[in-house]
Amino acid sequence: MNDVPAIEARLSGMEPAQILRQVFGYTAFRGLQDSVIQHVMAGGDALVLMPTGGGKSLCYQIPALALPGLAIVISPLIALMDDQVAALRQQGVAAAALHSELEDGEGRDIFRAIHDDALDVLYVSPERLISGGLLDRLAQVKLSLIAVDEAHCVSQWGHEFRPEYRNLAILRERFPGVPRIALTATADQRTRDDILRGLDMHDARVFAASFHRANLHVSAQPKTSETQQLLDFLRGREGQCGIVYCGSRAKTERTAERLVARGLPAIVFHAGLPPEVKRAAAKRFRGGEALIVVATIAFGMGIDRPDVRYVVHLDMPDSPEGYYQQIGRAGRDGERADTLLLHGMDDIARARHFLSLSAAPDMQKRVMRSRLEAMVALTESATCRTRALLACFGEELPEGCGHCDTCAAPPDMFDGTEDAQKVLSAAYRTRQIFGALHLIAVLRGDKTEAVIRHGHDLLPTFGIGAEHNAAYWRSVIRQLVAQGLLDVDVEGHGSLRLVDERAWPILRREAQLMLRRDAAPKPRTPAARAAKAVAEGAADVDDPRFLALRTWRLEEAKRQGVPPYVIFHDVTLREIAGFRPKSLAELGLVRGVGASKLERYGQALLDLLLE
Ligand code: ADP
Ligand code: ZN
Repeated sequence: MNDVPAIEARLSGMEPAQILRQVFGYTAFRGLQDSVIQHVMAGGDALVLMPTGGGKSLCYQIPALALPGLAIVISPLIALMDDQVAALRQQGVAAAALHSELEDGEGRDIFRAIHDDALDVLYVSPERLISGGLLDRLAQVKLSLIAVDEAHCVSQWGHEFRPEYRNLAILRERFPGVPRIALTATADQRTRDDILRGLDMHDARVFAASFHRANLHVSAQPKTSETQQLLDFLRGREGQCGIVYCGSRAKTERTAERLVARGLPAIVFHAGLPPEVKRAAAKRFRGGEALIVVATIAFGMGIDRPDVRYVVHLDMPDSPEGYYQQIGRAGRDGERADTLLLHGMDDIARARHFLSLSAAPDMQKRVMRSRLEAMVALTESATCRTRALLACFGEELPEGCGHCDTCAAPPDMFDGTEDAQKVLSAAYRTRQIFGALHLIAVLRGDKTEAVIRHGHDLLPTFGIGAEHNAAYWRSVIRQLVAQGLLDVDVEGHGSLRLVDERAWPILRREAQLMLRRDAAPKPRTPAARAAKAVAEGAADVDDPRFLALRTWRLEEAKRQGVPPYVIFHDVTLREIAGFRPKSLAELGLVRGVGASKLERYGQALLDLLLE
């Protein structure tokens, strides 16, 4: 690890903007980066809230280089640390990571480097930081700053709670006067408060960036035929990398099998797999292949592959926070990324049911309940979906985003009061013990065996909805469940019951109910559309120069044993391919080509372009 000289000495005294250009190869700060960096360099504590891909890393990496001393970066995942360290070394920064998977002697080398003042940035896991006397050693050297990455892990309310993060509150007394910067992509107020409290950072200034990401194209569809919907979405996306989230381990395996059977490059990831299988999956994913990872939400944190082009949810997440984190893993490189959420009545029913069974304290259950209901409302949103999503984090978009499904095709809303009455009275008159299938048969006047056996063909509701097809009634019932007029008895074979206080005002015509007309499933068009969209954006992806650059990058990555995107991002390669620089100076103008990379790879790239 001593092959890279510490450049901090060369950089200290340099302006942050200069470091941004020299080391990272970028011309301008993004959003709040500049203010955060100024604040930390002046010695202040900061809490930074930025969406995934927003550029959090530079907020601590630049002060780490500009300030004298060693920067400590606390990070929860080894893979994440290793990638960041590899990326920094490529940029000429003396960085190292201390964690449980170091080879023999590596730890010793790192300690020596700390002692010799030869290190700029040290990544460390929270448990490693607290154990083995590391704090005492660090107390003997000059620290520039302490960064806590993925700071939401301190929050007990979140699904990524890490008890070790709780110990980090002691950093304040152990290292008084060293600025601390906590960073997260989780946006809601509760998590924010938890971080400030949990890390004992009450005086920190909060920097909250907009969570609006213009490159994320969000969409949702009611489930009609899950596998078909997924295949339609995937058609035209060959060669892209994406994540398909499922609600259960069994479903990830089922789904991946189906995809593989159709010749698609799908792999499974969930927490129940043997460690070596998980490691292999993560390795392939980070290796830059065009994979489809079918996963539970265990596949998540620490995924900083920048070119994930899509995220599909086959089941509804249980909160807008979780949902946003998961779709946020797409398009970190700022290029277009698409997300599709499939949702249905069963998802809602199951999630509500599990929540009611949860042994969590009441207070916590209330929070979980309100998040779940916000998620349900989001799936049924009739107006800009991005706007509805951001509103969950207290951010208000002045107008529609223009890049979500509801903006592209605003759903048709209609007065559904009368049809709701028909469904509710069918449920009521059949004693609220039947599921959707049976109610639809009654409404449509189908003399099924069960209808006859129960004498339901004699009811006044029999056939009162014959003018609509079954899909229509399924849509109405789903929306009644989502809006809380009907309750699904998950343990009682999905029977539908009236939620009295919501249902009776509709039955008595005291209230009105608006419903959305679901787009009729058009089997061929969505796929054709997707294929066209890809074709339009694909010219540059097919560019032979770009492909040659990628091949070069892959070989270079293999040689060095690092993920390809650590060397250059796709965006950078595409810019190089399009711009065709003729000299090192011109090459240095491309985004993402800093001095160190220019020196290492510049000539090779120019030679390659000449061919
Ligand atoms: P986060 O940690 O917030 O998810 P990163 O720090 O990984 O995001 O940054 C996301 C991407 O944006 C990275 O590829 C990074 O190099 C790039 N980036 C960050 N800041 C800038 C900037 N000022 N100009 C151009 N690209 C940037
Ligand atoms: Zn929108």
